[in-house]
Amino acid sequence: DPQPLDLKSYIREIPDFPKPGILFYDISTLIRSPDAWQVATARLARAITAWQPDILAGIESRGFLTAAPLALRLGCGFTMLRKPGKLPGKTISLKYGLEYGEDELHIQADAIKPGQRVVVLDDLLATGGTLAASIDLLRKVGAEVVGASVLIELADLKGREKLDVPLNALMTYD
Ligand code: 5GP
Repeated sequence: DPQPLDLKSYIREIPDFPKPGILFYDISTLIRSPDAWQVATARLARAITAWQPDILAGIESRGFLTAAPLALRLGCGFTMLRKPGKLPGKTISLKYGLEYGEDELHIQADAIKPGQRVVVLDDLLATGGTLAASIDLLRKVGAEVVGASVLIELADLKGREKLDVPLNALMTYD
């Protein structure tokens, strides 16, 4: 980094979004600052390169924002984990439980060559349901998942305990 930079000062906290009582951590105030986004990307790169990935997988949609620039920077491929009905061709899917109801992620069946080393990225880890399901889905298509990375971890929700791969988080909130 050119100088130490407090990334948390670029995260906007928005009360009652998307529902009353929820405090939303908004990363759009970070990514609209070229300086902060540059520093965040450099810090993510440093952590992720140690895992020697072949492919970075981004979770729709804010996971795309972190994974795609990092893949270019690290010389990795990039692939997308998407909501139903978005990816063309044959896909493999996984349903997973949310606080209320369930959700589903898809990946193209041929997205990963067997044994390729994959790091999966999202913007934020809360309960861990989304990342845990993504790891399972990547394994279904033959990936060796070597790590997970987020900008923000909400530590009190203990999502990290749902993951059986190393997790790197740039910022932690209680
Ligand atoms: P989890 O499955 O870990 O409970 O929830 C994580 C998912 O919800 C991530 O895909 C993330 O984008 C989204 N999410 C939940 N809360 C927030 C939040 O406060 N800020 C942002 N940016 N994303 C959130």
